Amino acid sequence: MLQDNPDITPITPTAQMKAHTHGGRAKCLQRLVRLDMPVPTTVALSFETVHGIASGHMPDMAEILAAFPEGALLCVRPSSQDPDWGGPGAILNIGMNDARYVEMCDTLGRHAASALYARFVEAYALHVARLDPDVFEEITAEGPQALSEALRAYEDEAEEPFPQDPAAQLAQVLRSMARAWEGTTARLLRQAKGAPADAGLGLVVQEMALGIGHPEARDGETGSGVLQLVNSHTGLRQITGRYLSQSQGREALSGAAEALFLARDERGPSLEEVAPEAFNEIVGIAERMRRKLRAEMQIEFTIQGGRVHVLDGVRVRRSNRAAVRIAVALAQDKIIPREEALMRVEPRALSELLHRQIDTDAPRDILGHGVAASPGAATGRIVFSATAAQASAARDEPCVLVRRETSPEDIRGMQAAVGVLTERGGMTSHAAVIGRGMGIPCIVGAASLAFHIRKKRLVAADGRVFHEGDVITIDGATGEVLAGSPPMLEAALDESFQTLMDWADAARDIDIRANADTPMDAQTARNFKADGIGLCRTEHMFFETDRMIVMREMIFAKSSEDRRAALELLLPMQRADFIELFRIMQGQPVCIRLFDPPLHEFLPSDKPGMRALAEALDLPVSDVERRVESLGEYNPMLGMRGVRLGITLPEIYDMQARAIFEATLAASREGAPVVPEIMIPLVSAKREVEIVKTRVDAVAAAVRNERGRDFDYRLGVMVETPRAALRAEEIAGHTDFLSFGTNDLTQMTYGLSRDDAGRFMSDYVKQGVFAEDPFHVLDRDGVAELLRIGAERGRKARPDVVLSICGEHGGNPESIAICRDMGFTYVSCSPFRVPVARLAAAQLAL
Ligand code: PEP
Ligand code: MG
Repeated sequence: MLQDNPDITPITPTAQMKAHTHGGRAKCLQRLVRLDMPVPTTVALSFETVHGIASGHMPDMAEILAAFPEGALLCVRPSSQDPDWGGPGAILNIGMNDARYVEMCDTLGRHAASALYARFVEAYALHVARLDPDVFEEITAEGPQALSEALRAYEDEAEEPFPQDPAAQLAQVLRSMARAWEGTTARLLRQAKGAPADAGLGLVVQEMALGIGHPEARDGETGSGVLQLVNSHTGLRQITGRYLSQSQGREALSGAAEALFLARDERGPSLEEVAPEAFNEIVGIAERMRRKLRAEMQIEFTIQGGRVHVLDGVRVRRSNRAAVRIAVALAQDKIIPREEALMRVEPRALSELLHRQIDTDAPRDILGHGVAASPGAATGRIVFSATAAQASAARDEPCVLVRRETSPEDIRGMQAAVGVLTERGGMTSHAAVIGRGMGIPCIVGAASLAFHIRKKRLVAADGRVFHEGDVITIDGATGEVLAGSPPMLEAALDESFQTLMDWADAARDIDIRANADTPMDAQTARNFKADGIGLCRTEHMFFETDRMIVMREMIFAKSSEDRRAALELLLPMQRADFIELFRIMQGQPVCIRLFDPPLHEFLPSDKPGMRALAEALDLPVSDVERRVESLGEYNPMLGMRGVRLGITLPEIYDMQARAIFEATLAASREGAPVVPEIMIPLVSAKREVEIVKTRVDAVAAAVRNERGRDFDYRLGVMVETPRAALRAEEIAGHTDFLSFGTNDLTQMTYGLSRDDAGRFMSDYVKQGVFAEDPFHVLDRDGVAELLRIGAERGRKARPDVVLSICGEHGGNPESIAICRDMGFTYVSCSPFRVPVARLAAAQLAL
């Protein structure tokens, strides 16, 4: 009879139970039954049946009850497809009524039987009959007195006696749980967790293992609890959980209960001491579950008179670092293959391991939000200028640099700070790019806070005022700005992490390079096992104070001669930089981009700065001001930068090319021959490439001549204007490689300023104008279309042209997928995103 109805299925070793028809819990219980674990009798109701119940089609209760022993108490639990989607709370002790109460007074004693019945009446009243909870909160009595008060309260509120028929009770429980799932709030909540609009709910009806016995019984331990074999925070092996004698459900976990810890190595008395046999049996069951279910599970169990019952098993809750350790340990124990371990870790979760982060359990006093621009969390005193940041660092006081936005002048301050917070900007603005490069936490575009930089005040969204020296914390992973110093978890680059990364490298089929500008970046790239440097932004090498002065002299030079003289001074500095990069990268490819930014970025923007520069150059302040003004542009990002500068002031690129070639010879003398890659930024016309190529070739010839030694190099073009993508065929004819600079390409394709978009981006995303911030996730429909066109046309001219991407998108898993599909050789991203990219690339190849 029961077996004929596929929608009401007793869980037996051979029953068919799928997560998408009966839910994850039913499926898991079926596997436990098949493993012959001591699971009480259980019946599963399918999504379809439960949906029917919500719309008034009640199945025959007698059919369900027939699966259980006469008079058994039952519980009903939700079984959604993905346990994370939640569901209505479990209802226990269904079937409890006056008659069972009388019997139980004998078996459990009057006090325990009364407590059990009263608990059921209350749960039923609140969750099924939906009566006012206040009425029950007023009951303070205990034992039989509490029971009679609960029954009376029910009768008064519901205006009918408490239902006595177990079939009627069960029907009402099923109906209320089915309806709760279909309610609007519940639907919105689970949709927020990724559930589809039509996600189904299954229910499991299980015979109760009571967890409560007669207080004077001498037949062994009775109670309930949960147990798992690993620590949820660290992922390390450690038996943890809670247990409470004479308890049911998850009472052992409720804060009020004086629960026992499980194993002896934890504080206080333990289940291991109270009931060693049962404890060992449960641990044995957990071990088997881990092996057979191929996952770390938390067991929900009951001990009844010394006998163990397994009520449920759920995947252990885990932090991201624990997820890595658990997956690697399962593979090392040969429980799952390595490929599966790789698939089980969310690439983005790795970035959390590379940085300190706020303890997930800690309360958060949030002051405001911004764009989460560089992950990690940092606590420090507020400073409002780069100088104050350096002074703070000199005092060994960690500080957070708070600016309206940052510019090259702030670099020293950023280096001195533990984190950066700006009012303006988006994912690819100065603070964001530099912050990620340095690996320091950064939040940009925090417009929900008021920045009074000159008055040295930061005002929170709720009006609280913070001054210089006050302590705040920024969470660069969530974009939250917090008051004070919440507890932190340290970075966790442990052995499991390294192992997982090695497995990822063996699996992936696209190279991951790093964007690295300084020796420190290069070292980080190397530590994270990048396959080379995909973008060295050379202008970042000029931000050191002593170089900045020479740089400014160069900018102020009146004639080509004067300019060359200043560049002569910069040459040895650049050469030394490149030698060091080549050394650190030990023969791995290093792609150097020629000077890109507009010159005025190197000039002071305020009065004191102008005065200092006038002194250094021995010029009247007015001259300096005039010159600074004349270099100013209405739209510098679309102005005299990149190759345009290289064409107009060719001496700069000449100097850089020479520095690269001389460094090549020097580094090749010491180790593996270096073949530098030189890249021209912001190209939009073939002729630009021809002109620069001619000059770079000439410098190469001159260096070969002077030194009497030969070397190779590769010349490439950054495709970061739409025109360069469209004209890739004629451009590729002159180059060895094309590297898509998707920051500028996104900016120019959308006509969206990368430095200002942060201000309205969240509104755009919230209103669904853009599905995501296109500076963060590569726009598949528009910008990626230009990549495809550029790749196709470039390959037409040069089938072997090397293709890559070096915008910030390079570290993003979705963008890596797009590049891999188009057969790119590598992606290049900030050093700290290299591990995420390595894992994401591996998952794509599996
Ligand atoms: C780009 O535009 O994508 C790029 C990598 O260059 P930058 O961010 O330095 O402009
Ligand atoms: Mg660019």
